[in-house]
Amino acid sequence: MTLGDRFDGFLFDLDGVVWRGEEVIPGAAQTVARLREQGKRVVFLTNNASRSPRQYAVKLMRMLIPTQPADIVTSGHVVISHLRKIGLKTGDRVHLCAAPGLAQLLRGDGLVPTSHTTGVQALVVAWNPKLTFEDIRRAADVARADVPFVAANNDATYPGEDGLLPGSGAILAAVEVASGRKATVVGKPKPEMVRLALERAGTEPSRTLVCGDRPETDVAGARSAGVPVALVLTGVTLESDLASLTERPDWILRDVSELLAEQTAEASSADPVVVADGLRRPASGAEGNDEREAGDEPADVREKGDASAPELS
Ligand SMILES: [Mg+2]
Repeated sequence: MTLGDRFDGFLFDLDGVVWRGEEVIPGAAQTVARLREQGKRVVFLTNNASRSPRQYAVKLMRMLIPTQPADIVTSGHVVISHLRKIGLKTGDRVHLCAAPGLAQLLRGDGLVPTSHTTGVQALVVAWNPKLTFEDIRRAADVARADVPFVAANNDATYPGEDGLLPGSGAILAAVEVASGRKATVVGKPKPEMVRLALERAGTEPSRTLVCGDRPETDVAGARSAGVPVALVLTGVTLESDLASLTERPDWILRDVSELLAEQTAEASSADPVVVADGLRRPASGAEGNDEREAGDEPADVREKGDASAPELS
């Protein structure tokens, strides 16, 4: 029995789970292919709205993971659903401080993205690797005009091929400080994105697994939507961070290919366990979707070979 056997649907984060920058993470393509062969649903969800679902599908295809745009949920989808919820109508103009991929998504929904600072019904800030000083100035001008101010996410960083890049949160902080206003952040860890991805997967929440690399968004977002979650160590979270996790996952995996690893008899019992070889631990108290209390002990992660902490197998 593998950990993957327990689920019908998988919601994979992209940055730090499937790829780092332009490089596919080893084993990710084979894992997705194998899960699909087993009849499982795989949906991708990302807080990064800098590209459209179609552009992400092309990137996945380049990495030998053929995927329909409909199987990709970005924080851009949640931005749109929020803008509609607060009353924006087709044809309304939205000042966009973001990369072009998000503009494409807004246009597809009938909203009008613009860089103008007047006559706009909302301001949206998201990640943009080509951000300029002028972009921040214009967004802050719009924010001061008291229109609804929405941010795709508040991620501090993104994992790139050569290390961490400043994330949307860093850009958002600049606009917030310059304008003196706070944005409504709609991406993970808010539950909407996970719910949207769950709808696309069409699987039961308890039979669906979120796989993400960032505790404060992926793990917290899955928890708030009531979906089991595995934290993978191929992105922003390192093994050395595990002792101080504030958001505890149900499983910790070195990478997503461990979803396919055969577990020991004990490991495949009802109690979730960390299946990575060097990371095995009994996960008593880490069952399913139960609520964690603030101040809970962090995941008890043991080093392989620690005599005081014998391995399960
Ligand atoms: Mg990520």
